[in-house]
Amino acid sequence: MGEFRTYQCDECGALKQQSNHWFLLRLVADSGRLVIEPLDGKLPNHPVAPDEVTLCSKRCVMVQVEKFMQRVMEQPS
Ligand SMILES: [Zn+2]
Repeated sequence: MGEFRTYQCDECGALKQQSNHWFLLRLVADSGRLVIEPLDGKLPNHPVAPDEVTLCSKRCVMVQVEKFMQRVMEQPS
């Protein structure tokens, strides 16, 4: 396979198939925002930054969003 790379879900470990609906989540450190982007239009080897996670489904996105919100709520105000 050599150069071939595919996305792996950071939540459940699934590998990206051609027809799946994948999302990219990125935490914007400066603003504390969580950005959710569809991944389907991107090239298969779009580089994933250390602060980005790739997710295979709505279910896995929701799990990550919950973790994000939990971390926010646990911070002292
Ligand atoms: Zn997944």
